[in-house]
Amino acid sequence: MHSAKLLLLFICRSAGLFRIAAWLTRDKLKILCYHGFALRDEAKFRPKMFIEADLFESRLATIQRYAMQVLPLDRAIDQLYTHALAKRAVTITIDDGLHSVRELAVPRLQRYGFPATVYVTTYYVENANPVFRLAVQYMFWKTHKREVAFTNVIWSADKVIDLGDPAQRNQATWDCIHYGERECTEQTRVAMCQALGDLLEVPYADIVRSKILQLMTPEELRSLAAANVSIELHTHRHTFPSDDQARAAREIADNRSAFKRWLDIDTHHFCYPSGVYEECQWPWLDAMGVKSSTTCDPGLNSAKTPRHGLRRFLDGQNIHQLEFEAALTGFSDLLRALRGSRKARAEHRAQPF
Ligand SMILES: [Zn+2]
Repeated sequence: MHSAKLLLLFICRSAGLFRIAAWLTRDKLKILCYHGFALRDEAKFRPKMFIEADLFESRLATIQRYAMQVLPLDRAIDQLYTHALAKRAVTITIDDGLHSVRELAVPRLQRYGFPATVYVTTYYVENANPVFRLAVQYMFWKTHKREVAFTNVIWSADKVIDLGDPAQRNQATWDCIHYGERECTEQTRVAMCQALGDLLEVPYADIVRSKILQLMTPEELRSLAAANVSIELHTHRHTFPSDDQARAAREIADNRSAFKRWLDIDTHHFCYPSGVYEECQWPWLDAMGVKSSTTCDPGLNSAKTPRHGLRRFLDGQNIHQLEFEAALTGFSDLLRALRGSRKARAEHRAQPF
């Protein structure tokens, strides 16, 4: 974040404005969103997606310091739409279901007595390999090689990639991902990862052993209930097409049936994969008995917020502590509203008579 903005936030916090904002927005539901927790160097690899365990713990301490009430998602949604929301309500959500959730996040949540919800995508629980897309991106990020020669590989014509050129590196990463996702079976994708790891000198076996890019096993998922962490829907294959209702419905059905099989639980809350959604999907979700759906749109939630358009704040290693506090207390939203109305007024003034 820009240092001028951080300075402004620092001054506002020092002046007590964050505490005032928390009071002014006490009737709104704040939903936090996390993905993975760093077992190794993941927070350097994808700072928006991963967070170091220490930083996550300091976020929990911040939530406690502001006397926020951390509610389980199901209760928060019920209270929100019956106009009975607890004051200073916050809900903690975690997307995808990476192994590090069980390893690093759950013990810390338990220490603070905070409930949470994990939206789990089930394909990679069933196929216990590192998430293909992430593994490819990680290897292209991690490699110390300056160039790599692709000869006789299935995903590319023979060529030499200059890894020092970000555009070439990016193109090669996505060519590999698209080929694997569109053309290959799971087994072939694993073989591709092994071959790519050898070429880039980032051993795939190390990635597998470290579990940094793997999801929880059914046993690990089962252990979450005792820690007051609920499991909810995130599709089976991490996709929710807006142009194909039957396929979208199948994604939810497959996701649900996996939970039923492994955990014998019923699931009623949903999170859009990658936060991508269209309003045309809302009736589909209603028809499937989904009670709420979270997006990656920032903002606070009230009873007027559409059930399938709930807003969240995405936290990660890239978020400064001041920025987190501003979001948690609702200060950043008040600021946004102020700016928005000022802009609207300015636009209104600019209208010709
Ligand atoms: Zn996701």
